[in-house]
Parts: sequence; C-alpha cells; structure tokens
Amino acid sequence: MTRPRILVTNDDGVFTEGIERLAAALSEVGDVFTVAPDQERSAAGHSLTLHHPLRAKMVGPQRWSVDGTPTDCVNWGVLHLLKDERPRLLVSGINLGLNLGDDVTYSGTVSAAFEGTLIGIPSVAISQEIETGFTFDAAAAFAIRLARHLLETPLPPGTLVNVNVPAGSPKGVRVARLGRRRYGEDVIEKRDPRGRPYYWIGATPPKGDIEQGTDLSAVAEKYISMTPLHLDLTDYGSLNLLEDVAGVVGAIE
Ligand code: MN
Repeated sequence: MTRPRILVTNDDGVFTEGIERLAAALSEVGDVFTVAPDQERSAAGHSLTLHHPLRAKMVGPQRWSVDGTPTDCVNWGVLHLLKDERPRLLVSGINLGLNLGDDVTYSGTVSAAFEGTLIGIPSVAISQEIETGFTFDAAAAFAIRLARHLLETPLPPGTLVNVNVPAGSPKGVRVARLGRRRYGEDVIEKRDPRGRPYYWIGATPPKGDIEQGTDLSAVAEKYISMTPLHLDLTDYGSLNLLEDVAGVVGAIE
C-alpha cells in the first residue's frame, strides 16, 4: 500500500522549528509535503492573495515556500503541487503560541485548516503554548497519534480539529468548546519621531474569567484541548428571530 500523502503548512513561515518538527513527526505516518509562507504570516486570518502573482520556491526535499498567506499555500499545495494525488490529510502548525477561543478567526494556522476542509481535505490545526523552557515534543507526539487515527477514521466533511498543547507535560486530552478570549480593549497611541501618531492594537494581554468546559480552561489546567470546528457560521438559533425581522423590513415597495 502506498503511504498516504500529508500536506503540512503553517503561518509562522517555512523555516521555523514548529513546522520542521511537525513534518518530521508526520513522516512516520505518511508521505509529507511541506508548503508554507516564506515569512511569518501570523494573524493573516483566511486571506487569499488575488491581486499579485505568487511565487513558489523549492527549499528542501518535498518542501516549498510560497510568498503568500497560509490560505494561498493550501491552495497551491492541494490544487497545483499535489493535484494528481491529493493529500489525505492536512496538518497546520505547530504554531508558536496558542490559538484558543476567539483567536481562531484571526489565526492563519487555523485558517489554513479551514481552507483544507473547504477544498475537501480532512484538516487539523495544532498550536503550542509558549513558556520558558517549552518544547514541541508533546505536540509532535500527539500529532502522530491523531494523524494516524484520522487517516483510518476521518471526521465528517467540513469539520476540522483545533488542537492546543500546554507547555510542560500534558496531563491528558480534553474535548472542549471554544472559550472567550478578549484581548485588552485598549488601542495604544504613541508618537513617532516626526510627531505623527501611530497605534498598537491587541498589545495588551487577554483578561477575564476562564469558563469551564472551554479550550482555555483545558490548557490552563495543563490538558491538550481538541475542539471540533465548522466553517458554517450560521447562527441557527437566530434564524426564526431574523424571519420576524424580515417580515417587518422585507416588503419591497
Ligand atoms: Mn503563527
């Protein structure tokens, strides 16, 4: 039997320890191809490059850099590089830093996995908590076990797994919903040497209580969190409410 193809990507850039550790780990499970941005694109979200051409460069065996976003990399990897035999799994990471709760909408790491599911590839995002002395060992070992399982027993189409790994030795794995992680709401204003204002958004750390049952609480208690995500953002609970609104505002005169 041929080894299943696995596409590895990230948003930290192709020359980072996290992606190198992930690719090396997953080569125990399948035939790994790495396609990742040529520079850091963290918080690039789900953006796609439409207004300038993309260049891809081979930077190692089965390893390419693309001068675009994580979403560009997934498209180039699946629809161009591996179009003759599509990957059976996409794994994005190992991100340097957690992607918990509200982070997932900004995250290039998670968006790459969303893009994978959109084009029909079962996908996983994996992120590592950074603390002094942390390693990627636990995340790499977990990626192997999860990849092996998902290749045998895929999730439903459109569902991806968002994994966050605490620093240190994880106590186990918890399945958890997304928590709320509001960064400090101050926009910091400073002056440049010419006296003009400039701003920092999201520069203050997250605050507030951590709810139980969430990915935030799992990682805070030193468990690996796994959260199933779906790109259908419809708020089903509000469909009826909006029908009422449509009844009021919907009359076309
Ligand atoms: Mn990143």
